[in-house]
Amino acid sequence: MKFHVLSIFPDFVSTVFQYGVLRRGVDAGLLKHAVHDLRDYTQDRHRSTDDMPFGGGPGMVMRCEPIFSAVESIRAEAGKPLPLIYTSPAGEPFSQAIAEELAAGPDLLLLCGRYEGVDQRVLDSLVDREISMGDYVLSGGELPVMCLIDAVARLIPGVVGDSQSVREESFSSGLLDWPHYTRPENFRELSVPEVLLSGHHANIEGWRREKALLMTYRRRPELLTEAQREQAKQILGL
Ligand code: SAM
Repeated sequence: MKFHVLSIFPDFVSTVFQYGVLRRGVDAGLLKHAVHDLRDYTQDRHRSTDDMPFGGGPGMVMRCEPIFSAVESIRAEAGKPLPLIYTSPAGEPFSQAIAEELAAGPDLLLLCGRYEGVDQRVLDSLVDREISMGDYVLSGGELPVMCLIDAVARLIPGVVGDSQSVREESFSSGLLDWPHYTRPENFRELSVPEVLLSGHHANIEGWRREKALLMTYRRRPELLTEAQREQAKQILGL
């Protein structure tokens, strides 16, 4: 899968492909990326990507001409459908379900906003999907785009070495994750639960499922079905 990104800080965005599992995905040829500098698509001497808002008020707005020019040129060069995603606090809340949908789809073009955001005509005529990373405001779209890329890329088959670990992660199974332990067995009188040392696979699986259910019940009960909530209450003797 190829991720195209359009940003005024391309070096910043490129770092998401330089570490950990994404780096390995790139090295294995499973992930491709092209981070485009929006300033390369400007026409003026100052290479400006923003201007004052019509109607007045504080802050600057990202100009539509360089964005239209960049998106049209990147799409033409790609020679295939390239949905444009813009991240913004007004978008649909990002989720594991959206990450799975995007991972199963075509290559993507991601636009990073700055200042007060982009000229509305970009949203009206170019953007296919607007996605929010949460109910807070960041200084720019680079971090949200990097989060989105990370969440989508790790779902591309082969990017995470052990595909079972992706299937078992929080949200993929509908539940939050269970607790994990590694060596040493005893640390400052804090010990690892006996069952995990037992070698009894069915018991370990049962323990993990129960812990995941209880964790989800305590922290995110809205993720559970009514039956799961009842099961959690029963386990807790409520
Ligand atoms: N004026 C905008 C507002 O009130 O919603 C905030 C602009 S913000 C300073 C600059 C850019 O950062 C946004 O246009 C968007 O691309 C990105 N951004 C900020 N917070 C975000 C979030 N929670 N999710 C996704 N993108 C975000």
